[in-house]
Amino acid sequence: MSIKHTDWQELEKKVFMPVFKRNPLTLVRGKGMKVWDDTGKEYLDFVGGLAVTSLGHCHPVLVNAVTKQAATLIQTSNLYYTVPQLQLAGLLVKTSCLDRVFIGNSGAEAVEGAMKLARRYGKIKLDGAYEIITTHESFHGRTLATTAATGQNKFQEPYTPLPTGFVNVPYNDIEAIKRATTKLTCAVMLEPIQGEGGVNVPDDDYLGKVRSWCDEKGLLLILDEIQTGIGRTGSLYAYQQYGIEPDVMTIAKGLGGGVPIGAFLAKEAACVFKPGEHGSTFGGNPLVCAAGYAVLSYIIDNHIPEHVQKVGSYLYNGLQDLAGKYAAITGVRGKGLLLAVGLKVEIAGDLVLGCMDRGLLVNNVKPDALRLIPPLVVTEKDIRKALDILDKVFKERQ
Ligand SMILES: *Cc1c(COP(=O)(O)O)cnc(C)c1O
Repeated sequence: MSIKHTDWQELEKKVFMPVFKRNPLTLVRGKGMKVWDDTGKEYLDFVGGLAVTSLGHCHPVLVNAVTKQAATLIQTSNLYYTVPQLQLAGLLVKTSCLDRVFIGNSGAEAVEGAMKLARRYGKIKLDGAYEIITTHESFHGRTLATTAATGQNKFQEPYTPLPTGFVNVPYNDIEAIKRATTKLTCAVMLEPIQGEGGVNVPDDDYLGKVRSWCDEKGLLLILDEIQTGIGRTGSLYAYQQYGIEPDVMTIAKGLGGGVPIGAFLAKEAACVFKPGEHGSTFGGNPLVCAAGYAVLSYIIDNHIPEHVQKVGSYLYNGLQDLAGKYAAITGVRGKGLLLAVGLKVEIAGDLVLGCMDRGLLVNNVKPDALRLIPPLVVTEKDIRKALDILDKVFKERQ
């Protein structure tokens, strides 16, 4: 049995659940910063599988790790110990402020695990408190509970009634968190920079104030670093730039360089789980952990976060130049290689298509914002090429 088709996009419209607003592009191959479509056209990729392909496409280090592990041992279940899982867990603990790890298959699953841990913590240590405070414009995943945590009406409204125990308050507003805190609160969960919400950077002292409040009230601080972690913002984790430490942290996107993996980490004092209280069939299997271990080792050994600082400010400055040139741009925001260009009107979708025509992939994270989240190994030369295409596309639309 086999499926052959002349028009894959037409087949998608018939057989796939109609949930994605896809770009009219069928990708078949990738190498480094580039991907190719089914007509052979080449694109410079500043989307990177949504901040996932941290080493670029099909990096030899990742390909070798995956092919070697695929030929050795792929899946065992967590009934047994496996070496790649413990290597990855050991490296994650050694290079972060957290003490224990659980490995799952996606970002949403990592957040679910972190929220379950917060509920256990509340039940045992906080007199049964179970509410988690999260923020407007946040993004924590697509499961029912992570949708309740995600403070965006467009994701929540189709699925009400949502699981209870979540309070959404404005981002970058410590007083709102204070007002929402009650004796039922067990945790505050935040992204250090909001990614899917449009690349929103809080004030420099926001995370510190939230940390102090959590300390004062005995609440867990969960940082969702699924998008900001693994070097994306110019340090291995974004919390390191704010002089604070979370009690619990979630990671996923950039960790596996493209293979599906997510994890949550916790401080010893927060890790109240007992055997049997959480689990996963595939989670942390040898295949994905070998990938995660190879990617994380490469990022650390090659000082990729420092590279991200350097090329990130190069891209930021180039975008600022465009902002000075075109009135359509309201500003540039973000850190490292998590950047967005704000737009005066809702033309991000059109700009994405214009860039695509000229061989550049960028993401319309909001109708009025373009997001640039290239692989962390992007060079200044790639950036000049991307800026040149953006310049032409903005010029066309003047
Ligand atoms: C992408 C993302 C998620 C969800 O990850 P999935 O792998 O899509 O489930 C959660 N939190 C943040 C901050 C994200 O950027």
